Amino acid sequence: MTQPRAGRLRAGDAAARGHGKIPGCSDPSRSMAVLIVEDERRVRSFLERGLSEEGHGVRSCSAGPAAERALSEGGIDAVLLDWMLPGESGIELLRRWRARGDVTPVIMLTARDAVEDRVAALDAGADDYLVKPFSFEELLARLRAVLRRVSGRASPVLRCGDLALDPATHRVTRAGVEVRLTAREFALLQFLLQHAGEVVSRSRIAAAVWEHDFDTFSNVVEVYVRYLRAKIDEPFGRPLLHTVRGAGYVLREEP
Ligand code: CA
Repeated sequence: MTQPRAGRLRAGDAAARGHGKIPGCSDPSRSMAVLIVEDERRVRSFLERGLSEEGHGVRSCSAGPAAERALSEGGIDAVLLDWMLPGESGIELLRRWRARGDVTPVIMLTARDAVEDRVAALDAGADDYLVKPFSFEELLARLRAVLRRVSGRASPVLRCGDLALDPATHRVTRAGVEVRLTAREFALLQFLLQHAGEVVSRSRIAAAVWEHDFDTFSNVVEVYVRYLRAKIDEPFGRPLLHTVRGAGYVLREEP
């Protein structure tokens, strides 16, 4: 089976080429780059056409490997992800993206509308869920809502010394060098930065980052602190994450 290559259109391109709506009706600054992952040709071209007409940049593909490539190239604002795909299912793809810390908003598209299917999709990390057949207007409204929620989450960059974490882009840098973290390492660092200068106990960390109590997660916290140190401290010489014996950890610059 041949799979169409992902299109190369970026957000704004469609509007710039005059395929957008009448000026004043679509705001090019609000246009998004949407990745469509859908193996049903008819649905795919319906979405491609509709989204381009709205002034959005569209890339599309029909299966997991091309979706992975498109996502890894970056610049995608939202993904419309079909559940039933040849090879790996949409939900399997989504679980993997989330497990590696990819937070790109995803709306699942599917004909399955049982409550347990919706729950499975949301649990896998979907931001929303649309049951086929759906109206294009509803799809647009949900896309807008998802992006509003995501931008609403944006908060100021957290810093300690030369370490910076941007909650909006999920980027972490130390001394200007990008540091790649897993989703859990990121959550741990975010918590420590929110409490920079303050000693936080392992049980507080476990409760905040794992939403579990201390007993089950005491070792896990230690293991993740080690992972985090190997990435944010060791390569840079000057440690920021310190152990306070018998009390917990503190993130701070020490002379
Ligand atoms: Ca399908």
